[in-house]
Amino acid sequence: MKELWQLTAHEANKGLRSRDFSSVELTNSVLERLNSVEPEMNAFITITEETALVQAKEADKRFAAGTATALTGIPMGIKDLIVTKGTRTTAGSQILSEFVPPYNSHVNEKLEQAGTVMVGKTNLDEFAMGSSTEHSAFGATSNPWDTARIPGGSSGGSAAAVSAGACLGALGSDTGGSIRQPAALCGVVGLDPTYGRVSRFGVIAFGSSLDQVGPIGRDVEDVATILDCIGGHDPRDSTSNPEPMPDLRHYLGREVKGLRIGVPTEYFVEGIEPDVKERVEEALLEFERLGCEIDRTLSLPMTKHALAVYYLIAPSEASSNLARYDGIKYGLRDETSNEIWKTVERTRAKGFGEEVKRRIMLGTYALSAGYYDKYYLKAQQVRTLIIQEFNEAFKQYDLLVTPTTPSVAFPKKQKINDPYAMYLNDIYTLPSAVAGLPALSMPCGIAAGLPVGLQIIGNFGEEGKILQAAHAYEQTTGGGNLLASL
Ligand code: GLN
Repeated sequence: MKELWQLTAHEANKGLRSRDFSSVELTNSVLERLNSVEPEMNAFITITEETALVQAKEADKRFAAGTATALTGIPMGIKDLIVTKGTRTTAGSQILSEFVPPYNSHVNEKLEQAGTVMVGKTNLDEFAMGSSTEHSAFGATSNPWDTARIPGGSSGGSAAAVSAGACLGALGSDTGGSIRQPAALCGVVGLDPTYGRVSRFGVIAFGSSLDQVGPIGRDVEDVATILDCIGGHDPRDSTSNPEPMPDLRHYLGREVKGLRIGVPTEYFVEGIEPDVKERVEEALLEFERLGCEIDRTLSLPMTKHALAVYYLIAPSEASSNLARYDGIKYGLRDETSNEIWKTVERTRAKGFGEEVKRRIMLGTYALSAGYYDKYYLKAQQVRTLIIQEFNEAFKQYDLLVTPTTPSVAFPKKQKINDPYAMYLNDIYTLPSAVAGLPALSMPCGIAAGLPVGLQIIGNFGEEGKILQAAHAYEQTTGGGNLLASL
């Protein structure tokens, strides 16, 4: 018999509906698990036990009243970049370490309306800048598969928590890979939606033309259910897609025979670990057995420029977005001087970590007069070429399948002092992010005791097709819900 914290969200929903257990019982089981693994894992910046129990009681009332949804009573972790009314939201930074938001993000409003239970705010690289969750002002998170290793980042807390059973599902955010890369390294499923699918209202901004909130879950169905809940138009975000959300759950369980899958050669060269490549090749064979048409002749030569493009555009936007942390309006304030510019300078010097400062400097440089055309504008032009290349590819293919990351989870501290080595982690997740396309990562086996991630990239607005393929693959290969044995 499974413990309650071991259930997927859809399994838990069944049990709650048939009154096999209550939401309070489920929440207590998850909180107990959370408290037992958290000392080793550090996946949470704030644990919200009291809120969780209040929400769990409310959820039980909804089951009694017949107003429950698919997510009512489900214990969730929320990345601490997402603003939660009345609950401290830090962005993993010293500068917001005491910030208690007076309003709610759109996505948290949606979860509250659905009746979910928030167990805590999850750890992340400061302002979502990083690939290992080591750049957090609240200490690094450990990978529950091997605590000497990183869980990926920046949504490392969310991925680790889902994988260890400290919550049943979570929200992350993806700018250049921050949902998919940690999902891959922790053996869970993560989906970066189409840009504009999920409102950014109340999501602390990093790179506004790239940021998207998305779900992390134990299986494909859970990820579909969470995206179904948080997605859709929101007039408070001017980049929110006005088109109605497709019914994502409708795609689950559909056959995939005849789907045309392109496998771009550029994702299998330099730097990929042989084991990772092997697992992905095995997954491709599985898709072939399911009746998909696999084409390996696809070449996407613009892929190699995505890293440079991203590391100009994202820091440029970040340098502008982070100008608001000045010690005046909110957050930390250094009070050692009564001269305003000194206050601003000292607050920022003290409040921001190394990586954030590096990004602000890079971005400010790229945007400065004389360099704007050479760097920022050029990067935007190349971005258009990347988009065009994907557009062409999707005339021929339904989906693209690649590895999510070149390697499995690496040891802590290995890359922390080598920014370029750290940036290379996202080499396979950056191109679709730069193009605003939806992409999912799911487990496709184990290499040397650690999970390997498979990435499925879809055309603009086609999360449904991605979920259809991911679900079919998951069903033939054991059904998901890999739990780390921490
Ligand atoms: N690792 C990438 C970076 O450091 C992507 C981060 C993200 O997607 N938020 O910027």
